[in-house]
Amino acid sequence: MMTGREWVLVVMLIVLAGTGSLVLGAGKEPAGTAAGSAAGSAAGSAAGSAAGSAAGSAAGSAAGPATGTGGTPGGPAGMPDGDSRHTVVIDPGHPSEISGGANANGLREVDVNWEVGQALAARLAADPRIHVLVNRAEKMRMMTNRERAEFANRARAALVVRLHCDYAPGRSGFVIYYPDAQGTNAGRTGPSQFVITRSRMAAEAFHRGMARRLAGVFPDGGLKTDRSTAVGAKNGGALIGSIWSEVPTLTVEMIYLNNPVDAAFISSEAGKQAMTEALAAGVGEALASLPAE
Ligand SMILES: [Zn+2]
Repeated sequence: MMTGREWVLVVMLIVLAGTGSLVLGAGKEPAGTAAGSAAGSAAGSAAGSAAGSAAGSAAGSAAGPATGTGGTPGGPAGMPDGDSRHTVVIDPGHPSEISGGANANGLREVDVNWEVGQALAARLAADPRIHVLVNRAEKMRMMTNRERAEFANRARAALVVRLHCDYAPGRSGFVIYYPDAQGTNAGRTGPSQFVITRSRMAAEAFHRGMARRLAGVFPDGGLKTDRSTAVGAKNGGALIGSIWSEVPTLTVEMIYLNNPVDAAFISSEAGKQAMTEALAAGVGEALASLPAE
């Protein structure tokens, strides 16, 4: 464990390094209608050059393993005393217990999620009001959806943004998902009404911010609930990551990976940048929408 002072130093170093990513927690499930295809070949062109690779490994390892014993006071991502910033946890989707992520059009979902996640972390780290954490240091590290939720719980995150790409025929654009009901996973029923209420508020605002930024650039697929996803429906109405979440959580299916137009969009520098900016706008709107606790 680190002291509060040490923690501040580590966070500052991360910010200075221009990345803001930390390491610890765990991943999430595919909200997607058709997720589930194996982590195949085709190392996507989107892979690789993320905005600063996970520089937070020092901080991350200091904070302990992701397989949470959970809730260690002052642990992983707890904010130092007197720090009023909002903690935002970025969860680049896959590989999880559900899936390694989809593959299509020469892209691997896990690469797209990771690269955009790193770019978003760098973007948010430049905002003095935000303390940003990425839940793991290595892209291919397997994290269960429960572990991903537990990472954000330990961080006492103001908001969790789970990044995915969907896979479904005849669709295009981005879609935001949030829990509007409880589900059950491994004996736990959740999330709480508090998390449901706040997740909905955050998701509505996040969707507004993102849609505004992408208007005329990339299609808005709308705001939907966890229960409309395959995994959510299977678990009684909520995604596994939502069931275990004690903090507001939402999932962004950024594109339909199997749609060549969507794939080309996210593969382009301009498209990637527009997506990153839109996600940052969504985070800003979401944080502004949440009442202080
Ligand atoms: Zn996914």
